[in-house]
Amino acid sequence: MGSRQTMREEADAKPPIERQLTEVTCAGCGCLCDDLTLRVQTGKIDASGVPCTLAQSMYVAAQDQVHRVRQAPEAQIAGQPAPLAEVLGLVAERLTRARAPLILGPTESSMEAQRAAVALADVLSAGIDTGLAASGSARWLARQRAGWVGATWGEIKQRADLVLCWDVDLGPGGPHPRFAKRFLEPPGRFIPEGLAGRTVLHLACWSDRVAGVKGETAIVIQPSHALATLAALRTLVRGGLVDLGSLATTTGQPAHLWAKLAQQLKAARFGVIVVGPIFDRHASLAECEGLERLIAELNVFGQGRFVGCTIGQGGNRPGLEAVLGWQAGAPRAVDFSHKHPRYLPLEAEASHRIAEGQADVVLAIGPQQAATLAQAHATRPFWIQIGHNATLAGSAGLVPDLAMATAHPWLEAGGTVMRSDGVPLPLTPLLRPLCPTDAQMLERLRRQIVEQGARVP
Ligand code: SF4
Repeated sequence: MGSRQTMREEADAKPPIERQLTEVTCAGCGCLCDDLTLRVQTGKIDASGVPCTLAQSMYVAAQDQVHRVRQAPEAQIAGQPAPLAEVLGLVAERLTRARAPLILGPTESSMEAQRAAVALADVLSAGIDTGLAASGSARWLARQRAGWVGATWGEIKQRADLVLCWDVDLGPGGPHPRFAKRFLEPPGRFIPEGLAGRTVLHLACWSDRVAGVKGETAIVIQPSHALATLAALRTLVRGGLVDLGSLATTTGQPAHLWAKLAQQLKAARFGVIVVGPIFDRHASLAECEGLERLIAELNVFGQGRFVGCTIGQGGNRPGLEAVLGWQAGAPRAVDFSHKHPRYLPLEAEASHRIAEGQADVVLAIGPQQAATLAQAHATRPFWIQIGHNATLAGSAGLVPDLAMATAHPWLEAGGTVMRSDGVPLPLTPLLRPLCPTDAQMLERLRRQIVEQGARVP
């Protein structure tokens, strides 16, 4: 792992070249499009040809951040610049002495860095979690109870004749601007008419983003009616009796609309319910379970195949959930304090441990949610920040006790990311990094801790 000065000299020694890169993966939103063409000239990314305004603005903002990080210190002690080697030694020493260390796993990094973070948690007998407060845990707990019938997005493109978007806006101005363009509009092997051959319906409880969709294809209900709606739909799908008049009064939507929706779902040859980050954020355990059981029952009582599809936010949270699943047996809230991984849902979630003051040293990798940082402000564990913007003033919302900057995970580091449907995709390093990557930094830290006497797993 060379110093930033050495890396800068190496970068300067190369003549500026112009490159055109194809099939670049974009981590700007949960679509993780892997078909972008970008030009890189004299160390600058030109994303003006990318057919997505969200991606264009993301690349401008990310490059601006890369520029600012290159002016910032490579490492800091209590907000003051310090040599990287010295800070690395202090981090290793402080983590080794910690009584109850906690790692906030990198949700923005490559899966290579995420594997290094899990290995570090094992060496330290630490807790490790995604660090995302109140997001995703209900979904995972519900899946353990009700199961999950999923499909890749490619399979949806080839086969889906009915798509129910539940609280997710797939329009070009929404948070997932190219999902429909890439997976619903093109002709599929069994849907040669493309979008014209698919029925697309919308149901919203927690957002009004589909309110602009006109006609009976859009249903808006109050959040408090989501569970009753799911229960009624499940009963209708099973052929049971539902008081449609009462359902209409409760939801404010006409009775015939619910009966028709249940019929459409059952009649699908290949149906899919798409949910996005809003559902993840707001749905309770009972609502997540209700949705998953509805999908399962549509496979029993419907005429065809029915699947669920989740679209995440940008970054690589599905990658961390997958890596934790492979390496420690659970997608989040893992605890190594008994020298082996234990899944402790809720109890070992980072937000709970920080709020209760149960972590004396927190190693935060990559950007963290404002809610997590606010909890850290209140209980004030010893805070170590590793990540691309770790040494940028105010970027963490609090001054870390120790901080080390790493290469930008999407623009400089490379590696592998995972789409929400479980498809791994390569990240192309677009710029020459002047900092070590987070995977390199975490591996170096693990080795140093082992050299200092920690047990080798
Ligand atoms: S839709 Fe999302 S992933 Fe695809 S190019 Fe736009 S911002 Fe990037």
